[in-house]
Amino acid sequence: MRFDTLIRNGIIVTATDMYAGEVGIVGDKVSAIGAHLPSENTGRIIDAAACYIMPGGIDVHTHLDMPFGGTTSADDFESGTIAAAFGGTTTLIDFAIQYKGQSLRQAFETWMKKAEGKAVADYAFHCIITDLGAAQLEEMGQLVREGVSSFKLFMAYPGVFMLDDATIFRAMSQAAKHGGLICMHAENGGAIDVLVQRALAEGKRAPKYHALTRPTTAEAEATSRAIALAEMAGAPVYIVHLSCNDALEKVREARDRGLPAYAETCPQYLYLSLENFDVPGFEGAKYVFTPPLREKWHQEKLWQGLAQDTLQVVSTDHCPFCFKEQKELGKDDFTKIPNGGPGIEHRLSLVYTGGVHGKRFSPNRFVELVSTAPAKLFGLYPRKGTLAVGSDADIVIFDPNREDVISAKTHHMRVDYSMFEGIHIKGMPKTVLSRGRPVIDGGKFVGRPGAGQFVRRHTYAGV
Ligand SMILES: [Zn+2]
Repeated sequence: MRFDTLIRNGIIVTATDMYAGEVGIVGDKVSAIGAHLPSENTGRIIDAAACYIMPGGIDVHTHLDMPFGGTTSADDFESGTIAAAFGGTTTLIDFAIQYKGQSLRQAFETWMKKAEGKAVADYAFHCIITDLGAAQLEEMGQLVREGVSSFKLFMAYPGVFMLDDATIFRAMSQAAKHGGLICMHAENGGAIDVLVQRALAEGKRAPKYHALTRPTTAEAEATSRAIALAEMAGAPVYIVHLSCNDALEKVREARDRGLPAYAETCPQYLYLSLENFDVPGFEGAKYVFTPPLREKWHQEKLWQGLAQDTLQVVSTDHCPFCFKEQKELGKDDFTKIPNGGPGIEHRLSLVYTGGVHGKRFSPNRFVELVSTAPAKLFGLYPRKGTLAVGSDADIVIFDPNREDVISAKTHHMRVDYSMFEGIHIKGMPKTVLSRGRPVIDGGKFVGRPGAGQFVRRHTYAGV
């Protein structure tokens, strides 16, 4: 036995196990896991002393190089995957948007071109459907067979992304038939639009009104409707970026009845709240994304949801817009502020800090939330999402005790502020491998743009 890379002295952590062990890598795969693997002629030995050896993070919700509201998200597939890798994320599932009148294939091909030659680690796509005629309905099955096995639908943003219930129901039925998974942006867009128009008419134009016109009830209603439509269609459903207890209760209720209903939340909903809008001038625009920030008490409910498996995944909804020139597009009108925030880099550290150091769950549950469950739900498992012989050698050497303070001055995202500025983290990646190649080592980027590959995902298999 001869390895290209041998990782020693660490503690292997998966979603189920935690033990002292060594990992041997040949080419881009894990080829052996053992206690005393032979080190003769090994290409590279990585010392993981006092660190965890865990599968690379999988972020299933990112928007790189995405046009929105007359501008484009600030990270492309190069800067975005580099920042992700710094934070221990080695696979992204981004969203390819089908605009009205287009085929789904056009969306897929457009986003494939955006990533090609740029991504430093692997990526896949969900397809956002905004226009579902007979032809696109047919295409759903083809896309699933080509590895785009999930679709995102919107119940918000009328006139732009929003679909009516009949279309959602058709899409869900078709997804169920072909083994696709529907991801749902669950907010009642119609009611929200009325609230927004009312606020504007009353001269309420500051950033905080973005949040105040999107009540938790609008999210809970849509979550419950999405689950009901999925139940009627015999389809699984995955609620994206769940932000509040009201919606969480709907998911819990469905899961208690045994329905295949799943949901993710994001670090911003675990760490930030409406109080973040108490900042001078227009600075609240830094926290304008959808769903919005909620009252602080929701945070603990979401942490509990993660601990109790009501929520299965933490993703980021990374959609960065610079404060200067991009967020400023909405200086006099909150409806013109590009919706989105940067977060791709700090997901693992934030979940570890609050989850494991915060004594809410175990290191195993941490790995499950940031890597294994996303892989299982989205057809990447066991190639990714775990450490096993034959798996891709996407590996993070994670130091559970290394500390830092998050700041835009030191982050690697191409954006001029951090939502988490000043937050203290404990638990950070030290070395990151993507399919056996070092991408981050000793605090430096050592990868190569274009080394990342498109990953064809399997169909939804049930979890
Ligand atoms: Zn999103």
